[in-house]
Amino acid sequence: MIDGYGRTIDYVRISVTDRCNLRCVYCMPEEGVCSISHEEILRFGEIERVCQILAENGIQKIKLTGGEPLVRRRLPELAAALKQIPGIKSLTITTNGVLLEEMYDALAEAGVDSVTISLDTLDASVYRQLTRRDEIEAVRRGLRTAIQKGRMQIKINCVPVLGIEEQKLLEVAELAKNHNVHVRFIEMMPIGMGTQFAFVKEDALKHALEEAFGIFTPCGDVAGNGPCHYFAVPGFQGRIGFISAVSHKFCSECNRIRLTSEGFLKTCLQYDNGVELKTILRGGGTDEDLRRAIGQALAEKPKGHSFEKKTEFTDREHRGMSQIGG
Ligand code: SAM
Ligand code: SF4
Repeated sequence: MIDGYGRTIDYVRISVTDRCNLRCVYCMPEEGVCSISHEEILRFGEIERVCQILAENGIQKIKLTGGEPLVRRRLPELAAALKQIPGIKSLTITTNGVLLEEMYDALAEAGVDSVTISLDTLDASVYRQLTRRDEIEAVRRGLRTAIQKGRMQIKINCVPVLGIEEQKLLEVAELAKNHNVHVRFIEMMPIGMGTQFAFVKEDALKHALEEAFGIFTPCGDVAGNGPCHYFAVPGFQGRIGFISAVSHKFCSECNRIRLTSEGFLKTCLQYDNGVELKTILRGGGTDEDLRRAIGQALAEKPKGHSFEKKTEFTDREHRGMSQIGG
């Protein structure tokens, strides 16, 4: 699939639910979260049908995300079905890790290739402050299980929050020293609740990490789905990566589209552009109708985000990160 700017699109991120068992301060409000009703959420069969058509047209990689994907009942069944679609080479999941310990084996058996665990700090009280929940021990157990069993590649996502020194980012980075896991630092994006926080720039953080751990050497040996650039660090088993949508804009290499839990195919993280696939799915639409709608949405995929601009655009995304899936 080629979009209107000549970019090859081979990756879809699917939000399987907008619900979550945490309330990260930069992602969801504490109160007043209005969950989409069960009837409005895409059913597994509908997700599979969309993925079948996407795979026939060139999508090779699928990420399951949310909300928290592991709170969606019977998720491993969906994972197994998606992994069996001809043309799908990689199936990954991004989770907060709270339910990972109990679901690890089922996910691995379903064919999930890689698990990304979001973990912004190892400090219990800062974790509680950032996620508004007391679940760090469950996440630690999930991570430990993933490391010990080793059936899926492991990545850690960490969003540095400017001004929270106690987040102890060096400690998070050290997970890649002590284990064969890749730690990726994600610049806070001004989407949803994220607009209320200042981001830590990649260059400043990299400088601080190099002072502590030695010179970082760029490396291209980590297979991923996109924009993360990785570094080898002296004495580290895993790599350190940065996903810096704000300070190192990567839209010219964008390879992805997103399917929200209510069936909207989104073509850019920042904008509302896309197409309502659920209406077609539930309105008796044919595969050809779906194909045409997807093609039209791709042709209109925006050139890139404009996070740097402070002005409000009317077509800016109104959904929060938990609804989009990150
Ligand atoms: N609940 C799962 C989790 O936390 O991994 C999956 C969904 S979450 C929306 C996916 C990723 O988006 C997480 O790594 C999270 O830290 C990140 N994220 C959420 N809001 C963000 C923001 N405003 N800027 C950058 N990353 C954000
Ligand atoms: Fe939930 Fe993930 Fe958002 Fe945190 S970042 S509130 S875990 S969806």
